[in-house]
Amino acid sequence: MLNIPLKVNFANGVQFYFPSHLCCNCGTRNGLKIISQDTRRTTYMFGGGTEITFKLPLPFCDRCAKTATRRPKNIAHRILLLILSFAIWFAILVGLGSLDFVPETLSNYLAYIAIALAVTTTLAVVLMARPADGQSSYFQPVRIPTLKREFVSGIVTAIGFSFTNHEYADHFQLANKDAIARNQVYVIKA
Ligand SMILES: [Zn+2]
Repeated sequence: MLNIPLKVNFANGVQFYFPSHLCCNCGTRNGLKIISQDTRRTTYMFGGGTEITFKLPLPFCDRCAKTATRRPKNIAHRILLLILSFAIWFAILVGLGSLDFVPETLSNYLAYIAIALAVTTTLAVVLMARPADGQSSYFQPVRIPTLKREFVSGIVTAIGFSFTNHEYADHFQLANKDAIARNQVYVIKA
């Protein structure tokens, strides 16, 4: 993965402002601070990928501050977790199987038991990653699902943000209506 540390350049008019009067995750108006949310955008091309990190100045309340650093998980992360937990459970069971008091039948079903435990572990992790009361997301509430760049220069000609908090999305839409009307900024309600 090639990481581009250089500052990303935006085409004229590709400007965006983040409203700062409500938490971008839960919408509360109290105790807010601006946190620079490291937001990664990966583009795959020619079998490789480039990753750009945008630092988005977003308002978070105390309770939601930790969601600013929780990167969203995709299916590849889940599969990796499943494989890792299978390997760990398998090793534990092999260790148990070598003990005298463990019945021999266990070793016959070792792989099946390890798969069942790995699936349970993965499901538990996924289910525990639920937003708290009033929160719109357990993970970063603002993401960049769309990024259009000029082929050679790499200049960003359009950018799309998705918001898990729809009230915040409405305020963003209002604050950025000119760039949105020019199709240089897009809003997606996640
Ligand atoms: Zn909040």
